[in-house]
Amino acid sequence: MAIRHIRKDGDPILRKKSRKIKNIDERIKELAEDMLDTMYQAEGVGLAAPQVGVLKRIIVLDVGEGPITIINPEPVYTEGKQEEIEGCLSVPGKAGIVVRPELIKVKGLDIEGKEILIKGEGFLARALSHEMDHLDGILFTDKVVKYVEV
Ligand code: ZN
Repeated sequence: MAIRHIRKDGDPILRKKSRKIKNIDERIKELAEDMLDTMYQAEGVGLAAPQVGVLKRIIVLDVGEGPITIINPEPVYTEGKQEEIEGCLSVPGKAGIVVRPELIKVKGLDIEGKEILIKGEGFLARALSHEMDHLDGILFTDKVVKYVEV
């Protein structure tokens, strides 16, 4: 178990595009474990690799239903929209309303390299959409409709 340093807004790495993972080796598995440890320690519900300084397409989430790790996540379907408040471990002290899809289906690979399809509704859809944005250098502050007091 290792806790990694979470990069904060202003760090240029958060603005870069992450690369696809071609080979799920021991380093990737270790990265995924460290990302989950880091996310839980920071009491977050999701974390993307660029947030720990690694420009690779991997996200981890736990919205209260257990840990999810997705390698090379890609949205294959979205439906509806929701407007709720969100924040980000890389943007401490800020929260705002962001429009996200109400339902999203994401395909990718699990940590063993097996193809997975994750269906997220409501809060999970929001978290998936938020974390995938990180892989393209997008922060929620780029999409915020209105900031709220935290
Ligand atoms: Zn974030």
